Amino acid sequence: MKKILIIEDEKSIAELQRDYLEINGFEVEIASDGKAGLDLAIDNEYDLIILDLMLPGIDGFSICKEVRKHKDISIMMVSAKVEDIDKIRGLGIGADDYMTKPFSPQELVARVKSHIKRYERLTSKKNSSEDEFVEIGDLRIELKSRRIYLKEKEVILTNKEFDVLLLLAENPNVVFSKDHMFERVWGYESFSETSTVAVHIRRVREKIESDPSNPEYIETIWGVGYRFMKI
Ligand code: CA
Repeated sequence: MKKILIIEDEKSIAELQRDYLEINGFEVEIASDGKAGLDLAIDNEYDLIILDLMLPGIDGFSICKEVRKHKDISIMMVSAKVEDIDKIRGLGIGADDYMTKPFSPQELVARVKSHIKRYERLTSKKNSSEDEFVEIGDLRIELKSRRIYLKEKEVILTNKEFDVLLLLAENPNVVFSKDHMFERVWGYESFSETSTVAVHIRRVREKIESDPSNPEYIETIWGVGYRFMKI
């Protein structure tokens, strides 16, 4: 059974998270302050930590940094403030995912599952000499050969289309702005514009989505950017 540690000082939130995770087959422990949470995280083996940012004792930033020194484990940080989430990202303290409160318990469970699966894939990959790949739903992306398969049929993407898709698919549930994607995929050497990103997203959707106007994989977050959905 997969073990989850919830570090959260709001009892009702912690219990709601626990209940949903338990229904979904996880074993859950709760720590209600920073110190207790950090001790548990260091002394025990968990598959994932759900870490609140504002905590009595030691805050979520410090816990995340400290745990990272000792353990290679998925950490999902949660906060009531969007600004905090931006700050966490900016600091690059190594959280694997971020959620803003309030969130639906179903979304929490979905994300927890996807992180655990992703982690398992990463660790099993270390022991294998095969081509590394990302597999989501019917889509399989092979990293070394840069090939894409949809329902086992190869889909031909251009280099940049591949890079756009890979950036999103390797970071499921993370919202990328067009600017950020442009910077990551095209870098500064290019004379293209950020509208190029939208064009590439459209082309990728035409190739991988069964209904490009109602996409299953790449979701548009209006006014923000795009994110890859876990299926
Ligand atoms: Ca709190």
